[in-house]
Amino acid sequence: MKIAVDGPSGAGKSTLSKDIAKTLGIVYIDTGAMYRAAALACLRAGISIKEEPERAVEAVKACTIDLSNEKDGQHIFLNSEDVTTLIRTPEISMGASAVSAIPEVRLVLVDLQRDLAKTRDVIMDGRDIGTYVLPDAPIKIFLTATPETRAQRRFIELTEKGMKCDYETVLAELKERDYNDSTRAFSPLKPAEDSVLVDTSALTYEESLQKLLSIIKERMC
Ligand code: C5P
Repeated sequence: MKIAVDGPSGAGKSTLSKDIAKTLGIVYIDTGAMYRAAALACLRAGISIKEEPERAVEAVKACTIDLSNEKDGQHIFLNSEDVTTLIRTPEISMGASAVSAIPEVRLVLVDLQRDLAKTRDVIMDGRDIGTYVLPDAPIKIFLTATPETRAQRRFIELTEKGMKCDYETVLAELKERDYNDSTRAFSPLKPAEDSVLVDTSALTYEESLQKLLSIIKERMC
């Protein structure tokens, strides 16, 4: 079983995908975490990603990025160091957006993603899973919500983690990432033609989950 879940930041992809994986007993793969780890590798090497794309490609090719599924969810490792928590900062979000626009970086990570999906049943979330990474996935969902709803959710999430931030900045950065992700030349964020579009703006978390599970069940029959 391959389920592709795409959509902009803050639409609820990762939380919903995690719960669906648990319900269906399949593996959850968060591809955004891989771009975040790649961004961390570049930032640690002192690379200014937008100005030095060639150096960014070298840094990504030189590092190892691995995922493992633990009891408390997916963990991500950069050169064997667990960076699961470190990659959840606004700085890394912007870095991931920049590094993900470099085609050579995408090719490296897409290879890893396809390998991970080759031998197991997966629900994979990202921006180009249905259009590029797993174009033959039988179930494709494009999750979205208004920028304001998504920024509000992200603001609450960051505040709960104890990070200082303000709603307006979160909204502005989210819109910038949406713009970068959907206008980049290679593999931009867009719904696959055969995806089911779900807008979660007016739905509670539980309603969104039930809606996705019913789409999946329908498509599986
Ligand atoms: O999903 P998340 O917000 O963690 O992703 C971080 C960034 O990684 C996104 O803003 C996007 O630029 C990039 N990304 C991507 N393709 C994917 C997953 C994430 O370009 N499949």
